[in-house]
Amino acid sequence: MTDQSRLGEVLATLDEGLPDALDRLMEFLRIPSVSTDPAYAAEVRRAADWLCAELVSLGFQASVRDTPGHPMVVAHSPKGDRRPALFYGHYDVQPVDPLDLWQRPPFEPQVEDTPQGKVIRGRGASDDKGQLMTFVEAVRAWKAVHGALPTDLVLLFEGEEESGSPSLRPFLRENADELRAGIALICDTGLYADGRPAITTQLRGLCGEEIVIRAADRDLHSGSFGGLAANPLQILVNALATIKDASGRVTLPGFYDGVEDLSPELRADWDALGFDPAGFLSHVGLKHPVGETGRTGLEMVWNRPTFEINGITGGYTGEGFKTVLPAEARAKVSFRLTGTQDPARIRAAFRAHVRAALPADCTVEFHDHGASPASRMDVADPAFAAAKAALSQEWGREAAYIGAGGSIPIAGDFKEILGMDSMLIGFARDDDRIHSPNEKYDLASFAKGARSWARILAALG
Ligand SMILES: [Zn+2]
Repeated sequence: MTDQSRLGEVLATLDEGLPDALDRLMEFLRIPSVSTDPAYAAEVRRAADWLCAELVSLGFQASVRDTPGHPMVVAHSPKGDRRPALFYGHYDVQPVDPLDLWQRPPFEPQVEDTPQGKVIRGRGASDDKGQLMTFVEAVRAWKAVHGALPTDLVLLFEGEEESGSPSLRPFLRENADELRAGIALICDTGLYADGRPAITTQLRGLCGEEIVIRAADRDLHSGSFGGLAANPLQILVNALATIKDASGRVTLPGFYDGVEDLSPELRADWDALGFDPAGFLSHVGLKHPVGETGRTGLEMVWNRPTFEINGITGGYTGEGFKTVLPAEARAKVSFRLTGTQDPARIRAAFRAHVRAALPADCTVEFHDHGASPASRMDVADPAFAAAKAALSQEWGREAAYIGAGGSIPIAGDFKEILGMDSMLIGFARDDDRIHSPNEKYDLASFAKGARSWARILAALG
């Protein structure tokens, strides 16, 4: 039997089995596994048990593993000598508040007809139960048709993704030998905006910082002291204002060390996506892009570092009016990072910049609000080209390598703790309302997602 006909049988089995696959997903969605609320702890465990039983029924050696928080589900295919991949997903969901904005009970999922096609409506339908079940169903079809998978697998399912993943890093460390694989497959991302299949190959990092500037030992009257005494709010805004120049570049010394320009191939890929910055901004009531001159819109959100002021407080902001020089001023700021920028060096450069702007008898206090470096996957790994070709075949259009402006910490954890790159592949749509009332997953995402994984498994094998 040729590889192509082996795959063809698996795809046909997935198509025939779609109603049953939907029934299984609905059963999974009916378990209210809200991880952040302790009242649902037993339901979170029930979801872990449900998933574990599914994997055992597919012939995996699967177990529910306790952590100080919610459990992990770990499964292995029987040992072989081929390079395995690790698949990661999460079985916990976000809370449903505000409940009165749901058009149907969030844990009584249903397939609905909408003008855009059929959707699966319910909490977790997209994030991440629907997505992770696309992979489980692909595995099921391979097993059903051929009795075995084209590649060995490790599966890891987390129950704390929506509540900060406190147990994940320790668990990865303690079980590194068991979990380490050639590549990680992470199914928690989406199709590109226009429905094109995509593999996310780079994620920006983050560095968060809070500063408190203090001057006089009390609030001062601006008539008695204004002009002579230092005003911490003025010092603060001066210091922050000079971090970016008129062209949108950050002025901190060494800030751009490690920032890499796009390769010609990636630039061509991104240009072909036809991103329209003004159209993108129109969804939030804006139409004029700002940012660095000479950079494309996608470069700015995916491949360029940023500095943003997230909040400033100080002085009198209540009813009426008060002429005060406040005793202190506070700000929270963040940097998005790319390439190999070092968050620690950037934090140090930021602090030096603020200190240099400080008059002699003022003080400054800094608070570290965490940092993570950017991730960039090695797309020269043949697994990327194989998965890209498989996705392109399934969706009938060229899959794209894309970036993400935000951080997906698990990808950095896999790299740092297990030394493996991640392929971030998912089938969510921008309008899935994840974390919001009336979450949905397109039926087409579920069906074609499973078919996509069936093809990717074949390509990896
Ligand atoms: Zn989420």
